[in-house]
Amino acid sequence: MSEIIKTTAIVLNSSPCSVDAARDLLLFSPEKGKFFARVRGVEKPKAKLAAAAQPFCFGEYSLAERGGRYTITDVYVQDTFYTLAYNLDNFVIGSAMLEISGKLSQAGEENFELFKLLLNSLKVMAYENANASVVFVKFVIESLAISGIGLDFTTCSHCGKSLSDDKFASLIYEGAGVLCQNCGERTDSVKLNQKEWQALQKITLSEFVQLSDLQDFSRDVLVSLMKLMVKQFYFRTGEKIKSLEKYF
Ligand SMILES: [Zn+2]
Repeated sequence: MSEIIKTTAIVLNSSPCSVDAARDLLLFSPEKGKFFARVRGVEKPKAKLAAAAQPFCFGEYSLAERGGRYTITDVYVQDTFYTLAYNLDNFVIGSAMLEISGKLSQAGEENFELFKLLLNSLKVMAYENANASVVFVKFVIESLAISGIGLDFTTCSHCGKSLSDDKFASLIYEGAGVLCQNCGERTDSVKLNQKEWQALQKITLSEFVQLSDLQDFSRDVLVSLMKLMVKQFYFRTGEKIKSLEKYF
């Protein structure tokens, strides 16, 4: 008998497996980082663990380990976030957050902050009616910061001036990433218009519980900020976000 390990985790990805009516899951646990585990029999009708084999499923997973491979023996499901699937924006953006968490977490390395960020982000979309694009921008900014490659929205990364009263700013892909209007004009950078910069400041200054109050940004502004965050993510990590490729 192999020993049973229990760990809290969320399913980041689920792919069918050719044997045992099984699926191979990529899971993310705050204590263990990311890891693969197989769950058998879930492709059969009325399979007991079927819900636990879907992306977004969050719960306590019981794992049997043999030769470094994990098999799921049981799951206590805490949330499946199934309401995300009722809205295409929520579903696509939620899937992108799972993908980003997989890229930023490491196997065997604890990452409580990123795990908490992911759960909070999914919760405000699923239960607080927060705008998915707003949550995405917040998620990318916070997840990059947790990973030590974040942007600093408070001071110009060139001259050090405070940005709190500036009506314009621009972004660069190196270092702290944000320039004041003066430095931005003299540098090759992505100029933000006033509405984009205001929206970005509001999103970065808001706590998660306040994100559902941010409902007034135009779709143009949000699409533009999302694209900029995808680019920032790419230049800072070298990774593309595949879940969003066909939408931009
Ligand atoms: Zn400056």
